[in-house]
Amino acid sequence: MLSGPGGVGKSTVSDYLRKNCPDIWVSVSATTRAPRMGEQDGIDYFFRTESEFKDQITNNEFLEWAHFADNYYGTPKAPVFQEISAGRSVLLEIEISGARQVRSASDQAYLVFLAPPSIVELERRLLGRGTESPERAAQRLELAQEEMAQSHWFDEVLVNTSVEEVAARLITLASQPR
Ligand code: 5GP
Repeated sequence: MLSGPGGVGKSTVSDYLRKNCPDIWVSVSATTRAPRMGEQDGIDYFFRTESEFKDQITNNEFLEWAHFADNYYGTPKAPVFQEISAGRSVLLEIEISGARQVRSASDQAYLVFLAPPSIVELERRLLGRGTESPERAAQRLELAQEEMAQSHWFDEVLVNTSVEEVAARLITLASQPR
């Protein structure tokens, strides 16, 4: 499981693994956030209305879910169990409170915290994304700083020096028995 502050590059790593590593299945989350430019329903996320998402919570369809930066995010449970039963490694790319839920639900999960090379770099990425209003970007930066303080309870901290290096480490971890 891959977590870490928003803007650190988790989704770039997930996208890379989706394209280059068929042995790792990357979970597709549900969210109430509006699609960003180029994002596709069912590929990047399952885009849901708030009422659809809340129905899924009520029906216990999520492995974990969280309210983050004014939106809901959750991991659909059924496909994760399906992939695990089929013997594949599963990667969840989620924020910290979701990671906590996974930690308390399963001692088989291996939790990786992806850290930015520096806070300055993280600010540059978050503010430079240009997909959010300045207020929203500032809120995300504040959240990211709070998230950075959580790395200590993860199984491993990886600094995002390059996508290839992070992906290589995750592939090694996925090949180890749990
Ligand atoms: P974004 O809106 O930038 O795509 O995602 C915001 C945050 O939500 C990121 O830290 C991302 O990892 C996290 N996230 C994405 N999907 C899930 C999920 O299913 N559960 C949880 N808890 N967080 C998620």
